[in-house]
Amino acid sequence: MAHPDDAEILIGGTLFHLKALGWELGILTMTSGDCGSATHTREEISRIRYAEAKAAAETLGAWYECAGLMDVEIFANAENQRRVVERMRQFNPDVVITHSPVDYMVDHEETSRLARAACFALSMPLYQTRQIAPAKPTVATPALYYADPVEGIDLAGERLWPQFYVDITETIEPKKEMLSCHASQRDWLRAHHGVDEYLNQMARWAAGYGEECGCNFAEGFRQHLGHGYPHSPVLQQALSSQLKSRKQPTE
Ligand SMILES: [Zn+2]
Repeated sequence: MAHPDDAEILIGGTLFHLKALGWELGILTMTSGDCGSATHTREEISRIRYAEAKAAAETLGAWYECAGLMDVEIFANAENQRRVVERMRQFNPDVVITHSPVDYMVDHEETSRLARAACFALSMPLYQTRQIAPAKPTVATPALYYADPVEGIDLAGERLWPQFYVDITETIEPKKEMLSCHASQRDWLRAHHGVDEYLNQMARWAAGYGEECGCNFAEGFRQHLGHGYPHSPVLQQALSSQLKSRKQPTE
């Protein structure tokens, strides 16, 4: 994902379901959120948010790494690609979930491009990341999934429908707890809005997806089914008890 807290907001409930199934989880963010403050310096907020992201990942028992890019400067170029592939090779994932290729912020869209290209490059023995003591190429290309874009809409404001939903009614509380670890962002919004908008907004979005698929809270996903990527529905099968599809309109 692009920034600390994106994984929590977009797919946190699903991650807790996967944890309960015994999956080993890792979160890789492109940046440490170095522009996420109106009061701190970039260095200060970067350190604070890195620690918050690590603490959030710990509530999930997940590995956490940051690729060391800068906010609003995430671009799919060769140097950034090498950093992302290196960190993904370290974790060696079977499944990758990233941002929607179309999203409200270019940082998210470029992260999606980097993750998609990285999945393809992970197992290429001749693709070298030029790091000190580089991780080994992986054996296979991971299955690639896209989270819903923020607010579920494309650049023209149209709903970008998920292929499937995951019912997160049972994991909304740990999802909230995980998001609460990002105190700098929560406090900032609370001071600005006078209410706990950070948690409220996340819950509103999850409730909106829930309404679309007939449960209280949900998260939406699409699988990348282009040539060269695994087509087996590994995530859908693992989450079959929570899997939901869009309710058909009654009129
Ligand atoms: Zn973000």
